[in-house]
Amino acid sequence: SASSQACQVNTTCPYCGVGCGVSAEVTDNRLIAVSGDKHHPANQGRLCVKGSALHETTDLQGRLLQPQIDGQPVSWDQAIDKVARGFQETIAQYGPDSVAFYLSGQILTEDYYVANKLMKGFIGSANVDTNSRLCMSSAVAAHKRAFGADLVPGCYEDLELTDLLILVGSNTAWAHPVVYQRIVAAKKARPQMKIVVIDPRQTATCDIADLHLPLKHGSDGYLFTGLLSYLAVNEALDSSFINQHTEGFDNALQAASQFTGSVAEAARLCGLDETDLETLYRWYSETEKVVTLFSQGINQSSSGVDKGNAIINCHLATGKIGKPGAAPFSITGQPNAMGGREVGGLANQLAAHMDFSDPANIERVKAFWQAPHIARKEGLKAVDMFQAVHDGRIKAIWIMGTNPVASMPDADFIRDALQRCELVVVSDCVEKTDTTACADVLLPATGWAEKDGTVTNSERVISRQKGFLKPAGNSRHDWQIICSVAQAMGYAEGFPFSSPGEIFIEHAALSGFENNGKRFFDISALAELSERQYNEMTPVRWPQVKGAKTNPVRFFSDGKFNTPSGRARMLPVEPKAPLNQTSSHYPLVLNTGRIRDQWHTMTRTSKAIRLLNHIDQPFVDLSPVDALQYGISDSDLIEISNSLGRCVVRAKVTDGQPAGSLFMPIHWTAQFTSRARVDSLIASVCDPIAGQPESKHAPVTMRKL
Ligand code: SF4
Repeated sequence: SASSQACQVNTTCPYCGVGCGVSAEVTDNRLIAVSGDKHHPANQGRLCVKGSALHETTDLQGRLLQPQIDGQPVSWDQAIDKVARGFQETIAQYGPDSVAFYLSGQILTEDYYVANKLMKGFIGSANVDTNSRLCMSSAVAAHKRAFGADLVPGCYEDLELTDLLILVGSNTAWAHPVVYQRIVAAKKARPQMKIVVIDPRQTATCDIADLHLPLKHGSDGYLFTGLLSYLAVNEALDSSFINQHTEGFDNALQAASQFTGSVAEAARLCGLDETDLETLYRWYSETEKVVTLFSQGINQSSSGVDKGNAIINCHLATGKIGKPGAAPFSITGQPNAMGGREVGGLANQLAAHMDFSDPANIERVKAFWQAPHIARKEGLKAVDMFQAVHDGRIKAIWIMGTNPVASMPDADFIRDALQRCELVVVSDCVEKTDTTACADVLLPATGWAEKDGTVTNSERVISRQKGFLKPAGNSRHDWQIICSVAQAMGYAEGFPFSSPGEIFIEHAALSGFENNGKRFFDISALAELSERQYNEMTPVRWPQVKGAKTNPVRFFSDGKFNTPSGRARMLPVEPKAPLNQTSSHYPLVLNTGRIRDQWHTMTRTSKAIRLLNHIDQPFVDLSPVDALQYGISDSDLIEISNSLGRCVVRAKVTDGQPAGSLFMPIHWTAQFTSRARVDSLIASVCDPIAGQPESKHAPVTMRKL
């Protein structure tokens, strides 16, 4: 009977960086139901509304099922041959830096690993970047500057153990719902735990806030340098921690005092009520256990790295780090942004959290991979990569599992770049996206529920994602497609893999290669797993060092950091306003973000009809003051525009939106409506260190249609 074939599979949700465990009930190659995995440390049985609708998203409608060249169906052999020859001929004529891969925080660690190995070890270029660049690359750079390595010190439990939780640049209730549920439960159990939300908008997250600070857009840097000055003036520093475990304190404090030496000055620069700001500062100085959770509102900024360091400076100056309930905590947007960081999926990384700054790293990775052409310098970051595609320096690009024509800033420029490019290869599980429309070669990839591998969530927990449905149509796994292309390019010896388990074990072995405790990213214990153990692996937090009796849950409990001196670096931060300011032509600030029930460009979530019950069409939030001034009423159709593009959406007049600013969601693309691609309005201005675009601050104008 059908019921006798039912089975329960533990896997991971493919949406946000919370990384919830999902129990999937499968019968006859169909996903019947999902529930939260009670044993997964991230969610302990919970799921949000997106995760609980997963079983409504696995039908084949809209799936890409057959390889195509120039819109015509072809065999896999033809498609692989076309890609391999195209890349080889381009490299032969123009060199390795004339090609690029653009990856995704949606693909699995094993997919990322082979893509990175092919480009950086065998082709010989570091032109591998990922849509994670748009998500958390500022936090990565801030971690590296402060800690000497890209480390998230704490874990989700710290959000429950803390006495003061500061949520900055994060609408946690909508963007990381299960983390929010955990915070709500913690607050209910311990009402004395204080929660502060720092956000220009009054979001759903403010519902649990003891204090909401609606600061001026982009002024977060001033708020945290102001806090450091306050802590010094009010003798709330931890001098012994500063003396023993940090360097650069004097310069950091001097810079902070120069720009925001008084609460009044910080409040003025942030556009905040002085008493409210002082309340936060006082709470911070009086409370031992503080967590500052930060997300895209900090990262997506032309000074996002400095903002991250301004936050970390305050934790270091007070020793609020490495202890239960005390940490600066960057939460990632995507399901595998962290896994991509581990294998080197960013153009400024090499592999296993090693970068290009130390020649020994390059030799080590070269030797481990037996790489014929190891990359020796950083590649182009996303915005620069597509600029190079546009001006012809990059002639062949392979885009995997992402839709840059909708999600990159200046999205129309990205489309133009791809239309000019000689060879555009796109692997995806969806047939029609803004980006697949620009492809010369389309490669059908398996989707969630069909593919096997691992992902790492925001608290460093590696979880198995399971393939429990047969690959749809003629689709193949990303790692298989990449290995086939590598083999066709003549690199069979580096890509002998026949399962994701084999790839994971090589990745784990590389993390421990010539390590001996010198590098923090070490999962060498997992290199000992058999194929069966890999398949049955339960969630595990890294590091997992071979031979270690215990592995730390939190980093820095011993006060040792990964810098040459072993001390954390405090950075002198000069806060900056967003690069593009409003003008008489474009007097409004456009902010972008997620809504609760949709994910990215809606290719999966739009399939679950009930997820459209929350919000079913693109919109713009605006304040009653602006509505009055522009003669706009709720539900009016309005045009938002600037010199880069225009969008047409419905007005939502709301008290939660501050005057002078607008908010539009990122989810709607040309697939759903040709005129709501919000990224066509975002300029390609980036943080100079991280290369992360300023997606939260675009000057625009609006008019009623
Ligand atoms: Fe999935 Fe994130 Fe919801 Fe968890 S919180 S179920 S990972 S979308």
